[in-house]
Amino acid sequence: ARKFFVGGNFKMNGTISSIKDIVQNLNKADLDPNTETVIAPPALYLLLVREHVKKEIGVAAQNVFDKANGAFTGEISASQLKDSNIDWAILGHSERRTILNESDETVASKTKFATENGVSVIWCCGESLEVREAGKTLEVIASQLAALKAKISDWSKIVIAYEPIWAIGTGKVASTEQAQEVHASIREWLSKNVSQSVADETRILYGGSVSEKNCKELSKEKDIDGFLVGGASLKPAFVDIINSKL
Ligand code: 13P
Repeated sequence: ARKFFVGGNFKMNGTISSIKDIVQNLNKADLDPNTETVIAPPALYLLLVREHVKKEIGVAAQNVFDKANGAFTGEISASQLKDSNIDWAILGHSERRTILNESDETVASKTKFATENGVSVIWCCGESLEVREAGKTLEVIASQLAALKAKISDWSKIVIAYEPIWAIGTGKVASTEQAQEVHASIREWLSKNVSQSVADETRILYGGSVSEKNCKELSKEKDIDGFLVGGASLKPAFVDIINSKL
């Protein structure tokens, strides 16, 4: 069975003080031991969070570069994350794809380098509103997956997050049917293009306006294995989302 997974993507939010509060709140909460929880603060706070958060909770960077080290101003390497006990990175978030112009190929290459160097990856995909309205959602997701597959052979360190861009930060959550349809098609794509075992074992998260109010319904869908949460991960109600399967 796939272990339920809830990620908290803080994006470019927080201060030392507010992030310590979030960590303290998580530390004292009763979290479902059957859920894997990972939080992703801004890079500047990774060490602080790793030092203070309880060990059951994983910590993720929001980006990692695809070179071992060297003259890459502003970047962080997989080995530096490992050195700091940071075991995860989010890659291919739509904000990085659109605002920072990361291509499918760049994202795939970073994912390959990270996973080959011991950093697990929450790999994000998703369609714009324009693509959805043109009926091309599954086609776009398949092409994002194909770019990943072209570089990856070991899928064991990858969690997929489906995040429709129109649902991110908008309060417009995908319906359970819309999310389940895309999740099922991602799993089918994996079974046809990678292998049945990768399709069976890979966690597929939903992200986009997940809240304590809508998480329970979404978590009942058979191909939804957890969430990648933005805004709500900064609030105490994040605990309810982590515990949505209880
Ligand atoms: P919101 O939960 O704020 O919509 O953000 C989702 C997201 O982008 C998580 O990576």
